[in-house]
Amino acid sequence: QVRALVLTQNEDKTVNAELRHDLTVQDLPEGEVLVAVEASSLNYKDGLAVLGRPGVVRRYPMVPGIDLAGSVVTSTDDRYRPGDPVLLTGWGVGEGHWGGYATHARVRADWLTHRPEGMTASTAMAVGTAGFTAMLSVMALEDHGLTPDMGEVVVTGASGGVGSVAVALLAARGWTVVASTGRTDEGDYLRALGASEIIGREVLSDLKRPLEKERFAAGIDSVGGSTLAGLLASTRRGGAVAACGLAQSSDLHTTVMPFILRGVSLLGIDSVMCPPDRRERAWARLNTELPQALLDTGVHTAPLADVQALAAQILAGQVRGRTVILP
Ligand code: NAP
Repeated sequence: QVRALVLTQNEDKTVNAELRHDLTVQDLPEGEVLVAVEASSLNYKDGLAVLGRPGVVRRYPMVPGIDLAGSVVTSTDDRYRPGDPVLLTGWGVGEGHWGGYATHARVRADWLTHRPEGMTASTAMAVGTAGFTAMLSVMALEDHGLTPDMGEVVVTGASGGVGSVAVALLAARGWTVVASTGRTDEGDYLRALGASEIIGREVLSDLKRPLEKERFAAGIDSVGGSTLAGLLASTRRGGAVAACGLAQSSDLHTTVMPFILRGVSLLGIDSVMCPPDRRERAWARLNTELPQALLDTGVHTAPLADVQALAAQILAGQVRGRTVILP
């Protein structure tokens, strides 16, 4: 028996979400590996999918959930054996292929990652796509040659999933972290994660000039729009911004001035199609570098039955940190 949240589309293109208890393994899509899902997670993209917003789900019926972690039940691929602890993020799972909001998932072996030694399914999903993206962003800044002694790093959308993990990872690496948030009442939470200073989100998004006072050596931006434009204009000579999200807007109205007059770089982050070797490096680092403070204060757990309500909350920017979904 398989329990799953199933999305179907009506003739008028509206989308229904129903928790089904009557499916079997035979109903699952093709794939080399059957995984018993122990945990999934809630990401911004899952919110869009569950509420039927355009641009995420590519076919119906669909089981959403872009992340999953559990153990292998059966595998026709040599790389995986029954009982192996695994995780999966991205690759279009939960968008074009049935995803993690279910007790079981059948997936391609190429999409799976061996869960790092000692990392539970719940911890893997406390990280999930959002935390993995935060680590990819940290790695991109480091690959660019940026180090904590060069100055402050700012994280936008700091109370969200990507933002919370980014604040915690950067502080643990010794960076002085400035957290940009619309929820300044979350100051205690962000300080517990390691932020040194909290700024309102309007501080960056209200900036209008092509070049502002140089402040940040680096940035991780999960919101896009005028916030990213303001951040680029405030980035110091030779600095870089990792752009990974669009919670404010997918628009970017800016000028080339920060690039050509200050040598600022804009680094794009894509977690979905990230190649396997970089994935493994990121997960190995998450296994050793994820601060306990994040797991203690930034993670909560919810059952599959709560996903619809949580989807509305994450799109409204009301979910703090990371949410682990138990099937
Ligand atoms: P989330 O938990 O909802 O976090 C987003 C945060 O953005 C919110 O908590 C809020 O933080 C801030 N925000 C929301 N609306 C805003 C607005 N109108 N103006 C300015 N800030 C706003 O979502 P998430 O799962 O962390 O994802 C964050 C973004 O990254 C999403 O756009 C998602 O699609 C993207 N993403 C991309 C990748 C990739 O591969 N590139 C991977 C994962 C996620 P405050 O309350 O602190 O202001």
